[in-house]
Order: sequence, then C-alpha cells, then structure tokens
Amino acid sequence: MKLIPLPAFTDNYIWLLHDGQQALVVDPGAAEPVLQALSRLGLQLEAILVTHHHPDHTAGVDALRQASAAKVFGPAHEMMPEPLSRLGDGAKIECLGLRFEVIEVPGHTAGHIAYYCAKVDQAPLLFCGDTLFSAGCGRLFEGSPAQMLNSLDRLAALPDSTRVCCAHEYTLSNLKFASAVEPHNQALAAYFETVQTLRAKQQITLPSTILLERQINPFLRSREPTVVEAVQRFAASANDEVSVFAALRQWKNEFR
Ligand code: ZN
Ligand code: FE
Repeated sequence: MKLIPLPAFTDNYIWLLHDGQQALVVDPGAAEPVLQALSRLGLQLEAILVTHHHPDHTAGVDALRQASAAKVFGPAHEMMPEPLSRLGDGAKIECLGLRFEVIEVPGHTAGHIAYYCAKVDQAPLLFCGDTLFSAGCGRLFEGSPAQMLNSLDRLAALPDSTRVCCAHEYTLSNLKFASAVEPHNQALAAYFETVQTLRAKQQITLPSTILLERQINPFLRSREPTVVEAVQRFAASANDEVSVFAALRQWKNEFR
C-alpha cells in the first residue's frame, strides 16, 4: 500500500491510499488534485472517506463521485453531499481489502468521525481530519471541551505505532504554542528543530505517530502536572481536567 498526501488550498492535505490499482481518498476538499493523481498513477477511485462537513473536506466529493464509481462514506449526523453511506461509532467498512473502523470524535464539529485501520502493511493507520493535529487539535466550533477531551483520549489510546494522518499542515505553529506550554519538554524541543528544518524546505511533517503525539502534544498531555501548572498561570480558576483542557484550548486561540 502506498500513502500519499495531496496538498490542497494553502495547508490542507487530501490523503490518498492505493495498492497500485484501486485507491481511496480522505476529505477531498477539491477534486482536481485527486483527479490528477489518479490519472498520473493510473488508479481507480474505490472509495471516498469524509470526516466532517466543512467545505475544505467535502467540496470535491460530488465531482469525484461523478468522475468515478467511488463509494462515499461520511459521518452519521452531519450535513453531507448526498448520496453517501453514513457511519456511526464502531461501524466497519472494507476498502482496498482493508478494514477500517469508525471512531466518533465530536469536538471540532458535532458529528466528526475518524477512520482507523489496525494494520496497513506493518503499522496501524488513522485518518483523523481536524480533530488531532500534530502538536495541536482542532478548534471547538460545535462541540464542548469535555467532548473534545474524550475524543482525544480515545485517539491517544490507539497503538503507539499508529500513523496519524491529519488534514492540515499546522505542525510548526502548533509547536510554537506547545513550546510556550512546556518549555522544558526535551522531546518537544527536538521535534521542534526537526519540523523547522522540514518546513524551511517546505516538506510535509506528517504522518505523525500516536507515540510522538503523546510526548509532544499539549492537548494529549493536559493532565501532566507541568501542563496543568502552565495552564493555571493562564487561567487560575482551571481546577479540574475539563476546565484545564478548556483553558488550554482558549490559551491557544489567543496565542500569537
Ligand atoms: Zn474542519
Ligand atoms: Fe479543515
């Protein structure tokens, strides 16, 4: 299997997975980069997986459906370009001979879902849309902090080796914030240097791994004493795990 990020707009990635003949894409906010890749690589589009309703993840779906025989999958409870198969928590789908499981991860949007495959070649694979970013998480447009914390807990519990395919290249700016939260985190400082080098050459920083995110992502580390202390300097009243997480997200929103 080959995993390819197709850049779109200013900082989106449309992930394409293929076996040399059939392909799936995740969150095609634009059809053109997908159509170009399919023809360049001589692939047929078997399936389109959508994580949530935002246009930068869905606007290419209709054109791709018309240009191929692709099946379209998306969240059970969001406005979507019809027709599609709607998937709730625990649903299982087969694409490219692989089995993907749906994890409901509300927070960024109310019905956001992620797609997890336990084994693609050697390692698990996660398509998490705008829920988990490298060193960050999605903004809470529709869900509550408690929902997002629970959603991130579920993703953080996946195997260490899980490759994390996020939908945006936000890593560098996320790391600036993460470093302000945890200035003494060695793994974070090392990763920051790696990412600065990659971005200076305009190279992608993804996929990440669950192991790395557990070490460097403040939104997966909001119960760590160092993170709690830093958050409480920003919001003294944050005194339980949900209010600490909420204040951490608010701090990030205001961070420049
Ligand atoms: Zn979004
Ligand atoms: Fe997005």
